[in-house]
Amino acid sequence: MVLTSELEKHFPVELVSLLRAAGDLAWSRGWNLYLVGGAVRDLFLARPNLDLDLVLEGDAIALARKLAEIRGGEVVAHPRFGTAKFRQERISLDLATARSESYPRPGALPVVTPGTIGEDLFRRDFSINTMAIHLDPIHFGALLDPYGGRGDLDRGLIRVLHEKSFSDDPTRMLRALRYEQRLGFHLEPNTEQLMRRDAAVMDEVSGERLWHELELILNEQCPEKVLSRADELGVLQKLHPALKGNGWLRNRFEQARRASAAAKPSPALYLALLAYCLSQEENEDLLARLRIRGEIAKVMRQTIKLKQVLSALASPRLAPSAIYHLVQRYSPESISAAALASDSRLVRQRLKLYLTELRHIKPALSGDDLQAMGISPGRKLGQVLRALHDAKLDGKVQTREQEEDLVRELLG
Ligand code: ATP
Ligand code: MG
Repeated sequence: MVLTSELEKHFPVELVSLLRAAGDLAWSRGWNLYLVGGAVRDLFLARPNLDLDLVLEGDAIALARKLAEIRGGEVVAHPRFGTAKFRQERISLDLATARSESYPRPGALPVVTPGTIGEDLFRRDFSINTMAIHLDPIHFGALLDPYGGRGDLDRGLIRVLHEKSFSDDPTRMLRALRYEQRLGFHLEPNTEQLMRRDAAVMDEVSGERLWHELELILNEQCPEKVLSRADELGVLQKLHPALKGNGWLRNRFEQARRASAAAKPSPALYLALLAYCLSQEENEDLLARLRIRGEIAKVMRQTIKLKQVLSALASPRLAPSAIYHLVQRYSPESISAAALASDSRLVRQRLKLYLTELRHIKPALSGDDLQAMGISPGRKLGQVLRALHDAKLDGKVQTREQEEDLVRELLG
């Protein structure tokens, strides 16, 4: 099958011309160049994808540099891996030398040696990702499909290439579910069985790699679908036994998307929703297992703490200033998560009030203004500022003049 016209229809002209140039350059040095992986899959699925992976039976870094020299563009080389990233405006090409991989033990990183395109395709995860397109001038556009990827795309199947695929690299379980849900595909039945069989090997994978996969899941359009499938197959429990990909989560993730001003909610908000269902101890276990640190860990911890003060937010009469002081020390993602997750309508309303209005309300008078009115810096000034802020939150003062009146009243 020759896909020249498909390539021309699917990709911008300048990209096709660049691919031809790269293929010609490689060929002139006696090397074969191929377009591989996700880009070929997405070409057949007519899904836009301008992050292209190229595999070369030859020196990928040398080719990338030569291409940039002739056609313009920037190259970042990774000599340790024999890979290079080529960028030119909106185009990004990842060039790699064809390689073969072997796994010293389940879940460990592979040992990599240079190989043929055949070996390079065999080391890949699923049949739909193992197709390649020749880019050399003689065979330009010809499809290479040794594992029936085309047929599996038509049938909507995610299929591993061999029995040991998941035990070699258990992160492929999460990858499989990510593609399955993104594309609306199904696991091929034997692949599903192998996943159930090998789920326990997930325990051998480093926290960093699991975290990377979880981030990729949370960047999908509908992460909850991947999580509930992972739950069903016993894979989610391997991240932490208390994690649930149930209807509650689906519902909350969908609401998070509807409420989001951006194209999609931040991973931090999704993680806060996950944390909301955990005890503090379970959350600490999860953070340690996945080596989650920094801002995200903070948001997850705060979500659990915030959950513990929510009952106070349910008391019948609460001034806006009281709501403000109950929640203001928590991160916006934690508050947003609680505003989606709480069972109490009143609590949800109050958290939304905080997020949309209260947190933006500030008095017109500043500390400097108060000093100009004769209050010297110190405790008193802090008290007056807070009283002003509360009065403003509670609608007792509106204008600057009213604030000044209040200050004079407070000073007696
Ligand atoms: P996406 O649209 O998610 O980027 P992709 O197919 O481009 O999809 P990448 O994660 O960018 O996926 O990886 C590029 C290619 O490398 C894949 O198509 C697959 O062939 C291969 N690959 C990636 N991760 C693995 C893995 N863990 N095991 C085997 N092959 C992998
Ligand atoms: Mg990719």
